[in-house]
Amino acid sequence: MDIKNFTIKSFHEGLMKKDFSAMEAAREFFDLIDEEDGEIHAYLRKTKDLAFSRAEEVDALVASGEDPGILAGVPIALKDNMLIKGEIVTAASEILSKYRASYDATVVKSLKEARVTILGQTNMDEFAMGSSTENSAFGQTKNPHDFERVPGGSSGGSAGAVASGMAVAALGSDTGGSIRQPAAFCGVVGLKPTYGAVSRFGLIAMASSLDQIGPFTKTVEDSAILFNTIAGRDEFDATSVAKNYDDILNKEVSKTKELKIGLPKEYFVDGLSDEVRRGVDEAIQKFKKLGFKIKEISLSHTKYALSVYYIIMPAEVSTNLARFDGIRYSRISRINADDTRTNAEDGQYKSVSDRRRSALEEIYFRQRGVGFGREARRRILLGTFVLSAGYYDAYYAKAQKVRRLIKEDFEKAFDPSADGVDLILTPVTPTTAFKFGEKTGDPLQMYLSDIFTIPANMAGIPALSIPVKKYKVGGGELPVGFQLMGRPFCERDILSVGRMYEQDAD
Ligand code: GLN
Repeated sequence: MDIKNFTIKSFHEGLMKKDFSAMEAAREFFDLIDEEDGEIHAYLRKTKDLAFSRAEEVDALVASGEDPGILAGVPIALKDNMLIKGEIVTAASEILSKYRASYDATVVKSLKEARVTILGQTNMDEFAMGSSTENSAFGQTKNPHDFERVPGGSSGGSAGAVASGMAVAALGSDTGGSIRQPAAFCGVVGLKPTYGAVSRFGLIAMASSLDQIGPFTKTVEDSAILFNTIAGRDEFDATSVAKNYDDILNKEVSKTKELKIGLPKEYFVDGLSDEVRRGVDEAIQKFKKLGFKIKEISLSHTKYALSVYYIIMPAEVSTNLARFDGIRYSRISRINADDTRTNAEDGQYKSVSDRRRSALEEIYFRQRGVGFGREARRRILLGTFVLSAGYYDAYYAKAQKVRRLIKEDFEKAFDPSADGVDLILTPVTPTTAFKFGEKTGDPLQMYLSDIFTIPANMAGIPALSIPVKKYKVGGGELPVGFQLMGRPFCERDILSVGRMYEQDAD
C-alpha cells in the first residue's frame, strides 16, 4: 500500500478491489503519523476511536457487496476549528484548551454520512488568525518540503498533513487566504468556495462575512469530490445556498476551452518574487498552449483590499470572540500564579490592576488576557477600536463602501455583456514559503503575504489554488501555486479548467 500517494480516487479503487481494508488503511495512516508527525507536527490530536469505528463499518459494507460511496474509509484530517461531537476542539487557542464539542459541525456531519475516516485535528494559527501557523498556542507546524520553513497559514496543519501524505485530503477554512496560501506553500490543491456554498454551522467563527470552509487535496478532481460532499443549503446557516453541483467536473472539454481567462495587471507587480513570477508564467503558457483565450484586465481597487480587510476582519473578530468570556468557555481550572505573572510581564494591565476590580472583571482579565495569544489580542483591540463611537463611520462604514467597490471590480470583469472574462488567473502569494521567525516581528509583513488572496473573500467569489507542477516532498524545490477565481457559484468553471491543467501536467 503506497499510502503517501493515495488520492481519493485511487484509495476508493483499491478499497473496492479489496487490495486493502479500510481498517488496514486507517492503521497504516496512524503508524505513518506516529513516525513522521513528531517532526512536522501537522496534527494536534488524533481521533482513533472515531476512525476505527468508521473503518469497521465501511469494511462490513464492502464485505456485504454494497457500494459504500466514493469517500468511504478515506483518511481525512480536519482543521481544529470544526466541531466534532465529543472531541476537544481548540482553534489552537489556550482559552479553548478544555472545550469539548457537544455537536457536529454540518461539514463533519456530511463527512460522517459519506463514511470518511476522520484521522484527527490539525494545527492552525489561533482562531485562524495568521499566515504561518506560528500563532498556534500549541507549537508550530513545519513545511514538509523544507523543515526550516513555515507551511503557511492559518490552515498550515491541514496543508502539511496532505502534502506529507499523512492524510489523503483535509478540510480548512479561508477568511483571507487560509486555504489557498498554505496550499501554495505546500504544493497541494486548495479551494475556497463561494461565500454561502458550504455551511459554517459548527465552525469556530473568525470573521463571519468572509469565512468559508473548503478542501485540501492532491488533485483538482479530489477537490471537486470533497467540495460536492460538503456543499449545499443547511438550515442552521442562514447564509448557505441550495445549489446542485452534480457532475461538477463534467463540463465538456470544448465548452471548457471557450472560457476566457483574465490576467489582472494589479496582481503582476513589483514585489512578486522571481520564482513565483516564473511559476505563474509557466501556468499561463500552458493555458495558451491548451488553446485558452487570455487577456489582460484591470481590477482597479485591488490596492485597497488589504487595508479594508484589516478593518472589517478585526471588527468581526472582536464581536465573534466576545463570547469567550471565561464563563461559558473556561480555562478557569488552569489559572495559577504563572498566569498573573504573564500579565505583569506584558505590562498591559497596570492601570487596571492598580484599582480594585470586580470579581467578574477579574475573570475576564484572567481568561481573556492570558487565554488569548498576542495576535488575537491585537485584532480584538483593533476591531473594538474601529467599531467604537466616533470611529465607526471613519473606519468601519468607509471600509464597507470600499469593499463594495472591490466587489464591483469583479462584477465588471466577469460581465458577459461587456466582453468580460470567465476566470481570473493570478499568483496566490508574492513569495514561496518563508522561514520561521522571518515575519513574526513585523505584523505588516505577515499581513502582506495575503495580498492576492483577500480580494476573493471580499467579493465572496470562489478561488482555487493549484500547484504549478507536482512536487516530491523533500525534493529541494519549493512549491509555487497559481490561483483561479470565478463567478459566484461557478466552482464548476474553475475546477474544470484546473482539471484540464492538471491532466496536461500529468
Ligand atoms: N492570513 C490571514 C489573516 O491573518 C487570513 C486568515 C484566514 O484566512 N483565516 O487574517
